[in-house]
Amino acid sequence: EKNELQKLADKEAITIDGRRVKIAANVGIEKDVYNALKNGAEAIGLYRTEFQYMDRVSLPTESELFEAYKNVAVKMGDKQVIVRTFDIGGDKHINYLNCPQEMNPFLGYRAIRLCLDRKDIFKTQLKAILRASNYGNLMIMYPMITHIEQVRQANEILNQAKLELHNQKIKFNRNIEVGIMIETPAAATIADLLIKEVDFFSIGTNDLTQYTIAVDRGNQKIEYLYNSYHPAVLRLIKKVIDESHKAGKWTGMCGEFAGDEKAAVLLLGLGLDEFSMSPTSMTKVKRIIRKCNYSSSKKIAEDLLNISSVDEVENYLDNYINNNN
Ligand code: PEP
Ligand code: MG
Repeated sequence: EKNELQKLADKEAITIDGRRVKIAANVGIEKDVYNALKNGAEAIGLYRTEFQYMDRVSLPTESELFEAYKNVAVKMGDKQVIVRTFDIGGDKHINYLNCPQEMNPFLGYRAIRLCLDRKDIFKTQLKAILRASNYGNLMIMYPMITHIEQVRQANEILNQAKLELHNQKIKFNRNIEVGIMIETPAAATIADLLIKEVDFFSIGTNDLTQYTIAVDRGNQKIEYLYNSYHPAVLRLIKKVIDESHKAGKWTGMCGEFAGDEKAAVLLLGLGLDEFSMSPTSMTKVKRIIRKCNYSSSKKIAEDLLNISSVDEVENYLDNYINNNN
């Protein structure tokens, strides 16, 4: 089976009736990039950059960050790499930032909220990404967006970063594309408004599920409630994809759900353009997609959006997988 899967690495993710989607990898450390390429990643749909800030005693410098991003950009060549600006806070605590203890860290000082408060740290990272954009096909993505002002303010800092580099006569991609993560119900609900400010969306189902169902993604006691097949999550996913398409833009997904084989036909039917996942899941999802019919997957998705319970949705998809693979 391993060999059969490995053969799929070089093949396209295309349905029987010709709908093509992109299979991308989530990466965090350099070794992941090697695994992504080995398994046929067409892109990096999520480059998690918080690790460069963790396990150390002070902030990384602009050139340290630049070197790391440049390495990834060069390794990926002309393939798109979505660099997510650091998502610190929540469960990723960093001692040297002296952030206050919080009652609800996942509802607290996290990701874009921290970035917009510590503009110095944020601008340093943006400059490093911009500098690296000269060596490959980089895009920028902001995490944990809930308010449109956050996108505008982040873009303002991005413009300052560009201006500084320009004045330093350092080359970068002036037209670098900017997207946001849709991982809060607020962002999903105003997707039609947010899409006007950005080039693309990427749905973060790990947090979107946590916040939509109000269930801590790391709490074992209530783990049974944490499930991305919840109709509320599915309906939000549909809305996000539809709004991006209406605006002539695209949506990817980089939460765990994108790498769930059982969800593939549903996400395909909802019109998802890019599936980004752990490198080891890519060929498995590709195998499923290559056996799907896009027109029937659209009908399946429509059916599923009208089912009221998680169990029924999952049973439907279990049956589909058993009968079609
Ligand atoms: C997500 O929330 O789905 C996501 C991809 O981001 P992270 O898992 O890093 O929070
Ligand atoms: Mg997240």
